[in-house]
Amino acid sequence: MALHEKNTVRANLLDDVFASTDLSVRMPKYKFPKTEHHPRHVYQVVHDELMLDGNSRQNLATFCSTWIEPEVHHLMDECIDKNMIDKDEYPQTAEIEARCVHMLADLWNSPDAANTIGCSTTGSSEACMLGGMAMKWRWREKMRAQGKPTDKPNMICGPVQICWHKFARYWDIELREVPMEGDRLILTPEEVINRCDENTIGVVPTLGVTFTCQYEPVKDIADALDKLQKDTGLDIPIHVDGASGGFLAPFVDSDLEWDFRLPRVKSINASGHKFGLSPLGVGWVVWRDKEELPEDLIFWVNYLGGNMPTFALNFSRPGGQIIAQYYNFLRLGKEGFRKIQQACYDTAAYIADEIAKMGPFKIIYDGHGGIPALCWSLKEGANPGFTLYDLADRLRSRGWQVPAYSMPPNRQDLVIQRILVRHGVSRDLGDLLLNDMKHCMDYFEKNPVTTPLTEETAGGYKHS
Ligand SMILES: *Cc1c(COP(=O)(O)O)cnc(C)c1O
Repeated sequence: MALHEKNTVRANLLDDVFASTDLSVRMPKYKFPKTEHHPRHVYQVVHDELMLDGNSRQNLATFCSTWIEPEVHHLMDECIDKNMIDKDEYPQTAEIEARCVHMLADLWNSPDAANTIGCSTTGSSEACMLGGMAMKWRWREKMRAQGKPTDKPNMICGPVQICWHKFARYWDIELREVPMEGDRLILTPEEVINRCDENTIGVVPTLGVTFTCQYEPVKDIADALDKLQKDTGLDIPIHVDGASGGFLAPFVDSDLEWDFRLPRVKSINASGHKFGLSPLGVGWVVWRDKEELPEDLIFWVNYLGGNMPTFALNFSRPGGQIIAQYYNFLRLGKEGFRKIQQACYDTAAYIADEIAKMGPFKIIYDGHGGIPALCWSLKEGANPGFTLYDLADRLRSRGWQVPAYSMPPNRQDLVIQRILVRHGVSRDLGDLLLNDMKHCMDYFEKNPVTTPLTEETAGGYKHS
């Protein structure tokens, strides 16, 4: 090696990362890179770009975990190489997944929790697909047995999360989504019964509606469907979308009957990565008992070693999130979950009170009768000189993400702003936000908004 080459190599090894050959030029963006780059340099570049993402702890739009115990970080690292689908190779991960299913069946009061069936998923979206498919399959078997046509299935729900729109479109089902009317922003038994017929595969109430965070009245709907069956013979099952509520009601509101205590509730989904307090990437679906999951939806695969049942849309998937869920169950138990969730409810109620005192806002949901969250609109007729879109935009300059969005049909006229109070949103953090809200309002008073932001000009918000 010539001497000058040696010097170049030496310089490359010792250069400060920002003076390096990689960082003193632009990194490739859209064309596949031609050459290698030093790991330390690439790490710095990627790490720095991620600074521009929002700070997740200040993202008050998301329902998902943004604070994770250090022990969970360790377990996630230890599981990074484990594929949960390889049940024969990683039998303990499979065993732990099964334990979580039975613990959830127990938590949700399955009559025979030890023998029920369920599985982990990537989140509630996949879990809803699986729950929905089981409903469609059962309905089709029933209709075929009666010699009736099976080409027009429908499903009844209130204002649902987007995953149910996907389910309906992907699986060719008519979605009878009860629209909001006036002050009624959720499903009621009357609206359900009006839409039932023999092609209804099921009713899906949501325990924690995405838009307003309220619980839909599962028991009242179940009672109304019991009466419908008595009157007409129609036997229509319920799947509860408990994405959020499935990990809240059992701990904080254990008298609320929404789960397998109601015989009509055949399956439940929940997001482990929301109020289940696990890191992103895990959901659950559990059936009331084995019979509710049609056999022909289960695939048996022998190439993983053993003959393993699988029911999922995905195949390979990380095992760590499942392990983290089990850790949380052991770590917290009912008592620990209750304390964390109750603290969130208290903080939500506190923030709602303080926002109500500010003047121009009407609290629509204050954390009672749903999930730990709050939402508000501008008071009718109030003209504070800014829109909620302006306020959201201004709060963003301090890093807060407090989305403003309009309601689905038929209340598109109603614009609200919403805060999710999750694990890690402390009273102090709430106070910091409230102070910033007051500063924003002062700012608008001194600097009147000339072109108020609207839904169109503010940029979209995706419900997650
Ligand atoms: C979040 C949510 C979903 C989708 O769940 P993911 O875990 O994000 O896939 C479905 N339904 C409701 C009510 C939700 O809140």
